[in-house]
Amino acid sequence: MTTNTSDSTPKQHVFEADVARLLHMMVHSVYSDKDVFLRELISNSADACEKLRYEAITSPGLISDDQAARITVSLDEENRRLTLEDNGIGMSRDEMVEALGTIARSGTRAFMERVEAAKEKEGAELIGQFGVGFYSAFMVADNVDVVSRRAGSDEASLWSSDGKGSYTIGSIDVADAPARGTRITLHLMEDAKTYTSRWTVERIVKAQSGHVPVPIYIVEKPGAQATELTDGSALWTKPKSEITKEEYTDFYRGISGQYDEPAVTVHFRAEGRHEYTALAFVPGSQPFDLFDPDRKGRVKLYVKRVFITDDAELLPRYLRFVRGLIDTSDLPLNVSREMIQESPILSAIRKGLTSRILTSLEKLGESDGEAFLKVWEAFGTVLKEGIYEDYERRAQLMALSRFRSTAMAENYRSLAEYVKDMKDGQAAIYYLAGSNLDQLKASPQIEGFRARGIEVLLLTEPVDSFWVTNAPDFEGKSFKSVSQGTADLDQIAKPDGNTSAKAETTAAVEKFIAFAKLALGEAVSDVRASDRLTESAVCLVAPEHGPDRQLEKILQGAGRLDSAAKPVLEINPDHPLIKAIAGSTIDDEAFRDDAVQLLLDQARVLDGERPENPRAFSERLARVFERALRG
Ligand code: ADP
Ligand code: MG
Repeated sequence: MTTNTSDSTPKQHVFEADVARLLHMMVHSVYSDKDVFLRELISNSADACEKLRYEAITSPGLISDDQAARITVSLDEENRRLTLEDNGIGMSRDEMVEALGTIARSGTRAFMERVEAAKEKEGAELIGQFGVGFYSAFMVADNVDVVSRRAGSDEASLWSSDGKGSYTIGSIDVADAPARGTRITLHLMEDAKTYTSRWTVERIVKAQSGHVPVPIYIVEKPGAQATELTDGSALWTKPKSEITKEEYTDFYRGISGQYDEPAVTVHFRAEGRHEYTALAFVPGSQPFDLFDPDRKGRVKLYVKRVFITDDAELLPRYLRFVRGLIDTSDLPLNVSREMIQESPILSAIRKGLTSRILTSLEKLGESDGEAFLKVWEAFGTVLKEGIYEDYERRAQLMALSRFRSTAMAENYRSLAEYVKDMKDGQAAIYYLAGSNLDQLKASPQIEGFRARGIEVLLLTEPVDSFWVTNAPDFEGKSFKSVSQGTADLDQIAKPDGNTSAKAETTAAVEKFIAFAKLALGEAVSDVRASDRLTESAVCLVAPEHGPDRQLEKILQGAGRLDSAAKPVLEINPDHPLIKAIAGSTIDDEAFRDDAVQLLLDQARVLDGERPENPRAFSERLARVFERALRG
């Protein structure tokens, strides 16, 4: 690509394929809400002003002739033009080629796939989230000119495009450019001429960008005086009592690029040893990249109202969905990245903010269960990571957590509720982990627990298998997988009261179990009579030590476990089938062997697995059927 800056004839460039595709989508999808383009362009201008303020900390000369950052929106109804100008950092010619001709972000392809799949309205909401903001100008304009002059440079360039596959870029006389910063002129389409009306633009700017920390001015028609639309005062510096819910929501939308309502707003001023202000939000819905391993924290760091960075990791990873900012006067403006990482002030802020967010979630859980569950459904998976990542807050995070259980399969339960309802003699919090709620509900392993009215937590997410094995206890009660070890249910009475002891195992059944052990050999580590089964004939459980069945599957799937432990086959001595086989007079070794192998395969199927050898399985089944039909 030619980027010879001394050449003044504009050069034509072809957009990168992804940009062209994106533009095509912008122009041709009929978004219901085109207003977002204004918010996107204003947010770019505000970013540019903040970047300049930051660079000026080390190079004060950059702003010495013009200190006050501002954004100006100018309307020209007659020529159907809308112009946005800022005195921010500006762009060099190369920067314009890079920023406006390519898409550096990996999120963009994901964005396009989502938009293509989404409904119109969601499409417009997605634009901001994915940061493809600039191109949204082509939703309302058929030609866009960008004139920019980088702060401190004596050259200016003009970028122009009709959004149809190519753009031109060339040098222009600095007299025709802002003294520094960027001027974007939109040549509006016929059906977008409303964006030259003061009333429309004022309404949109105030609603969408009312709390951008740079003042915004409007020039109603060519030659008119600029008047102030918003004063750029940072919302977070105002006292809480003077801020309305709508103002918080607007601010949240601006900072997050999401269009929903925040679920939780945390705004406080810490005084004393460390002074800082925090304004943070728990979003009302899940952002698209919540599980992207590269997703960084989204809390911005300001020092004395100057934006410093948005990757200071101001919150632990398990709060990576929180959006907002911290503004402190305790750090120097020229704080370096290394200083930020190691600063004791930052770790105090991190602690303080984490506590406030968790307490706010606790309060929400107490005051509005329904709203809390919405937050839990969106972010519970991530919050649970904290149970094993943040030892100090483990108990607090466990108390916040909600689970499905056999007691309330359609609803959520907290651990405190679980513990409160524990049966006499019950020592542990029982759980069954798997990948599917319906399958868990039908698992044979929980039958005996259900019969005794003992609640079993049904854990369906991979993260569950990790926290549950890392959490030694909750309120003194340990966690126990019902698919592992012995069930020890004889301590707890059944509701009818009379059978608290283990089921009687007859001599015949014992003989059958001994036979099964021999017949199954290496396939299992043990065969034993079960006290956890009431309806099913058999089930598989993991040996007492090591991972439970689900964790084992996860580790194997991730290639982190070479060989699975051999399971234990548990047999229900009361089951008619077992009684029949055990008591049968047939002294046919081959038949008994088929029966035992089939029982093991049945247990595998109940666990969501497949018979180990499908062919041998069908042959055995055929033999047993045939024999039954022969009578
Ligand atoms: P994002 O803002 O998420 O980076 P955009 O598509 O909105 O994505 O903008 C692309 C890039 O163009 C910005 O990152 C910035 O480098 C550049 N840019 C856009 N508008 C301006 C502006 N007014 N001043 C300086 N740079 C700008
Ligand atoms: Mg942007």
